[in-house]
Amino acid sequence: MNQYDLIIVGAGIHGAALAYYSAKAGQRVMLIEEARPASGASGHAFGWINASALIEPVQHLAQNVMDDYHHLQAALPSFPLRWCAELTYGVCPENPQASAAGLNLSSLQPRTVSQAEIRALEPNLAHPPLHARYTQAAGIISPVEAIECLVLAAEGFGARVVCDCAVSQLLVENGQVVGVSTQAGNWYGKKTVLAAGLGVLDLLVGQSLHLPIRPSPAILLKFEVAQALLNGIVSNADMEARQGDTCTLIAAEDYIDNTPENGPAAIGLRALEAIRGQLNGAQSIALKSVAVGWRPLSDDHLPIVGPAGDDGGLYILSAHPGLTLAPTLARLLSEELITGVASPLLSNFRPMRFRV
Ligand SMILES: Cc1cc2nc3c(=O)[nH]c(=O)nc-3n(C[C@H](O)[C@H](O)[C@H](O)COP(=O)(O)OP(=O)(O)OC[C@H]3O[C@@H](n4cnc5c(N)ncnc54)[C@H](O)[C@@H]3O)c2cc1C
Repeated sequence: MNQYDLIIVGAGIHGAALAYYSAKAGQRVMLIEEARPASGASGHAFGWINASALIEPVQHLAQNVMDDYHHLQAALPSFPLRWCAELTYGVCPENPQASAAGLNLSSLQPRTVSQAEIRALEPNLAHPPLHARYTQAAGIISPVEAIECLVLAAEGFGARVVCDCAVSQLLVENGQVVGVSTQAGNWYGKKTVLAAGLGVLDLLVGQSLHLPIRPSPAILLKFEVAQALLNGIVSNADMEARQGDTCTLIAAEDYIDNTPENGPAAIGLRALEAIRGQLNGAQSIALKSVAVGWRPLSDDHLPIVGPAGDDGGLYILSAHPGLTLAPTLARLLSEELITGVASPLLSNFRPMRFRV
């Protein structure tokens, strides 16, 4: 029986980050993905590493989030991350100091900037407001490339990565999860982590734990532009946008429903008009793609990280906003799995809080 230290189900941002940290620490890791890496919610994310917006009981992770992303950038030369300013106006929170009360990192402390400063930061804004909330250190990652980079690095440390292979069920022996079953066969691991996004729900059928994770849709829009229009992230009542590559502007929108008036295509066209009105030089932009991503969201909106039962065989790793939190949650979970010592930073997020 080929036994791994760790079997990870799902190669979204959580599974990829956990595979990276665990393989780097010398664990024998198997990462199993039913399609391709980043084919779930992660592949449709906007890419904003928004540590300054974290509020308690997650805010205490903000410093770790920044540190972990800086470490990834240093350790993986091709990691697609850049740091930029973020400007928020016309949306909550109106009071930057209140939302950032617990942040002790100066680069994350939001401050209010004047219209002149806004013009200097984003010269293409057609109607810069009188004031905006400014944060110096927002991160932008290209989610698909970031996940591919983590998966590749995990492979470099010896992880085995199997794609196009769905886990159909958990293998249980004497009441303990001992691995997973797939159409390609059974694989055994000392520990199994479900990082399968919404797929966690099906895999927990028959287990004693039921997790209140529900699908929360959001829309990712890509626009073709002739030249770069934004330097950082701009978030206001009409648009949340950033530059992708020079020819692509990326925006995220709330999902409303699937009707012709409010469906994703209609929202895409409304966003197109809004951006044309908001940015100088955007009059000729064209809508390139509209995609709906299904975010796994727990009922209490908190991460779910840690043991799924008392037997020590099965673990969960799920969170929103996942792109922001994944490296930190994955690193902490990886350390817990290796040392057996529970991290106090994760104590509010245990799956067992949902056990009835
Ligand atoms: C439009 C949009 C914008 C967003 N913007 C941001 C942002 O700017 N910043 C931020 O922090 N977050 C953002 N998010 C949220 C973020 O994308 C999610 O929180 C995060 O991607 C969840 O990652 P995950 O790894 O838990 O799940 P997923 O990315 O869904 O990964 C789960 C993986 O498991 C695989 N899988 C499922 N079942 C099985 C199975 N049985 N066997 C094998 N594999 C399986 C799936 O194929 C998938 O690849 C955004 C989301 C959307 C939709």
